[in-house]
Amino acid sequence: MASHKQLNSPPQDFEDLKALSAEFGNKPLHIQGAGGNASIKQGDIMWIKASGTLLAEAMTRDVFVPVDLARIKASIASHLPDADTPAAFLISGGSDLRPSIETSLHAVFAQRIVLHTHCIHTIAHAVQTNVGDLLATRLGNFNWAFVPYTKPGANLARSVMEVLKPDINVIVLGNHGLIVAGDSIDEVRDLQNAVHKALALPATKLDGEDHAALLARVDDRAYGLPDDPLLHQIALSDQRVAQVVAGSLYPDHVIFCGIAATALTPNQTTQDATGDDSRPHPVCLLVPGAGLLVHKDASIGAKTMLRCLADVITRLPGTAELTYLTQEQNYELLDWDAEKYRQALNAE
Ligand SMILES: [Zn+2]
Repeated sequence: MASHKQLNSPPQDFEDLKALSAEFGNKPLHIQGAGGNASIKQGDIMWIKASGTLLAEAMTRDVFVPVDLARIKASIASHLPDADTPAAFLISGGSDLRPSIETSLHAVFAQRIVLHTHCIHTIAHAVQTNVGDLLATRLGNFNWAFVPYTKPGANLARSVMEVLKPDINVIVLGNHGLIVAGDSIDEVRDLQNAVHKALALPATKLDGEDHAALLARVDDRAYGLPDDPLLHQIALSDQRVAQVVAGSLYPDHVIFCGIAATALTPNQTTQDATGDDSRPHPVCLLVPGAGLLVHKDASIGAKTMLRCLADVITRLPGTAELTYLTQEQNYELLDWDAEKYRQALNAE
């Protein structure tokens, strides 16, 4: 009789999956920080990236955990509540890692290997109101489908399931990112690169970054210049400022940077904008036409997501009309409970 360990042993190309994960995990135009995930299936087991781990580190530490594929698929199909708690399907392997909240998203694919990224070129399309037409123009050579925004979890997996036909191997997630699937590592790598290329948009860099004008607004020692000069790009035109102040464009921005972005009005200082300490300070403050100030306590995750925002905003055409997450979708991502949600609504 085979031992438990042998039954759970990963597929032959597991090392290749790690290499694929590290490859794209280290490309900020494909994956930023702890975002994105990869999976591989063998029989009734699926290895999926663990929550909070980095695909970029897939070669140097354990980032994958095995889950019971048959059971999670049954839970998704039957709308059981545990479909939203992937840890319930973990095959214990003696580690503390828990499967990604996006586990269900991978389970619904028949293909053996699934790669989900927050590809910047995809996001720059997936936040525009005419995304369907834009994708139809550029993805003519692919078997693709579009799924409108739903919070990552079992409901999103069910929406993907509804559009999955056997030949579909590219899914664009509205206000979120990209999924590609295939039966070999090379097929998935090629598909990821091909979609990224087909959706490529050039970044437009504007002049005007003005450190003196930025620092003149700082009167609370809480804000300073960012290490990454590209972040200033977010604030270098009125149009860009309007685009990011109007709302949140995708989930990881909300989770790491809060809802939308905040701009200073003419002559307003950082202290004026943040007031007393009763509310958390924004991770960044935009000074239209001059650049961006970043909070000194901003996490690495927040800074990574500001870079993501700069990479998206610099690629949006001037005429772009954007779809934003609704306020309810923002609150849902922040896990605000019903009472807090009601209070926030009343405060508006
Ligand atoms: Zn995602």
